[in-house]
Amino acid sequence: MSQLDAVTSHHGGGLPANADVVVVGAGITGASIAHHLARRGVSVVVIEQSRHHAAGATGRSGGMVRAYDPDPVTGELALPSLAAYRDAGCWASGRAPLHAVGAVTADHPVQGSALREAAGQINGALSASAHVVADQDEVAGIRLAGGVALVEPEAGWVDPAEVTADWLAQARVDGAVVCHGIRVRQVEARGRRPMVVTDAGTVSAGAVVAAVGPWASDPVPGLRPASPVRSRSIQVSIVERRPPAPPHATFVDLRTGLYAKPVGSDRTLLGMPHLLWDSPVDSPPEPAHAQATVAALTVHFPWLTTATQLSTVRGADAYVSPGGQAPGLLSGTGVPHVWCVRGWNGGGVKTAPEAGRRAAEACLADAFSDIA
Ligand SMILES: Cc1cc2nc3c(=O)[nH]c(=O)nc-3n(C[C@H](O)[C@H](O)[C@H](O)COP(=O)(O)OP(=O)(O)OC[C@H]3O[C@@H](n4cnc5c(N)ncnc54)[C@H](O)[C@@H]3O)c2cc1C
Repeated sequence: MSQLDAVTSHHGGGLPANADVVVVGAGITGASIAHHLARRGVSVVVIEQSRHHAAGATGRSGGMVRAYDPDPVTGELALPSLAAYRDAGCWASGRAPLHAVGAVTADHPVQGSALREAAGQINGALSASAHVVADQDEVAGIRLAGGVALVEPEAGWVDPAEVTADWLAQARVDGAVVCHGIRVRQVEARGRRPMVVTDAGTVSAGAVVAAVGPWASDPVPGLRPASPVRSRSIQVSIVERRPPAPPHATFVDLRTGLYAKPVGSDRTLLGMPHLLWDSPVDSPPEPAHAQATVAALTVHFPWLTTATQLSTVRGADAYVSPGGQAPGLLSGTGVPHVWCVRGWNGGGVKTAPEAGRRAAEACLADAFSDIA
């Protein structure tokens, strides 16, 4: 059995009675945290309610990754994360998951100097060739419609489910137990250790970290983050891209929130902000929003006027308003040694390698002593 096959082999049986750290949720965030903990020799149990990894936002995600983000906290995580996605040595598969098709971030002209500064930082840190274009009609297959754009030729996209599977495989090789098909019902304080109550038994833990994505907005008892989290809908559409439509880089327009990425050689994923809050995680796609998304992106991809729409995917992510965001990556829950990871505001893939590393370090400290 290969390392990656091993990920799915623990369906519902053999839940250990004890662990240094229990990670709830096997999306990309939980997988990254589990990998970094297990690598440090910590005994880790991952508990996922679905029978598959990447069952939530992760499995529906476009996986666009770039070093730049207008939010400095996110940017600080995204830059080293892009380095990890480029580095074959970080992956059980032996190959880097990044599809380096390039990334274009458009913004208002007034942001030109901030983007140039960001390009300098990215190039210094990653030996990359990021640069800013202005007064240019088109770059990397994308019409800019005015404004300026930061171009990151070394960025692109990853397959989030593949990344998640790789980290879970590495965690298992390092001794972690990854359980699928088990739902955490409650986490409670028993003496000095939290007790994780599941529908397949209980686990006594040194620390618990909830990486439950949009489920954090309606948490099970004991996993309520002190800093409120909300769930917000994200809906994307896949369209056919036939010649003469050109290949293109991944794209985000910070002026409008529109985004796009290539899927293989003949399809494109399109997205537009879908400002629906707190709807059920598995709500069905909305056809009207899908049509509006294609229409809005036609200014950047004129070939969309004749493109065939193939499918629409809807998911949700955990969002935190800037004022409500707890400092750091982990929010307390009121139960000692039980933590909830921050909401990723639609950017959890591009930050996962570094966010998981830092969250693992915080958990590691907490599994054996209190952290502030
Ligand atoms: C359509 C879409 C497109 C996106 N595009 C991008 C993009 O291009 N770039 C980017 O960076 N980000 C993107 N995102 C955001 C990104 O995918 C998310 O930020 C990221 O996947 C969140 O991962 P997570 O592990 O925190 O949450 P999830 O992937 O939602 O994982 C949470 C897991 O916890 C499990 N769980 C929940 N409750 C329990 C319980 N009680 N017991 C056991 N298990 C439980 C769930 O089953 C789930 O598997 C997109 C998201 C969507 C939906």
